[in-house]
Amino acid sequence: MSAQSHRDHFVLSWTVRRTRLPLLALRCPCGAESATTGEGRFRVNANGKLLHVWLLVRCVRCARTSKLAVHERTPVRSLDPARLRAFESNDQALVARTLLDPALARRNRFALDWRGAWRLESAAVEAAWPYRVAVGFLDPVPVRPERLIAHALGISRGEVERRIKGDRPLHRTTSTGFSFVVLPAL
Ligand SMILES: [Zn+2]
Repeated sequence: MSAQSHRDHFVLSWTVRRTRLPLLALRCPCGAESATTGEGRFRVNANGKLLHVWLLVRCVRCARTSKLAVHERTPVRSLDPARLRAFESNDQALVARTLLDPALARRNRFALDWRGAWRLESAAVEAAWPYRVAVGFLDPVPVRPERLIAHALGISRGEVERRIKGDRPLHRTTSTGFSFVVLPAL
């Protein structure tokens, strides 16, 4: 949202942030393909010296609950006690960190469905051309830069190709910061 001068360019900051937790693309026996963390709950089971922790998710259609393994047969002593307490109290920040950890998705074979779960904070600008936009990510939302830019600036994909000079390929999905220069319309 802020603007400041940076060398000869006018620089704008855009921010990608989530508005809620994404759904999980996860097939349920009922045929539905979406699950939710709902209120966000863990199940913790200490079996002797070994610990199991699952993140509970619920089918959005039939409400069947599934468990996603977070820790399996982990020695209790190897887990930081504060982290264990956070699991036991369903700490919401830990629910979010766990769900957004790509390792959990890989192990449990699901993808995150980010549709409708994030927004771009940008400012309209009547800036001197050309100007630079730096895009930062507060959450690992996968975006296609060319689409994000076309939508945010209200220009066509063809115009993106002509007028936007990115610091990386703009057709490649990313969840990390990038920047680009906007050239004037011809
Ligand atoms: Zn279901």
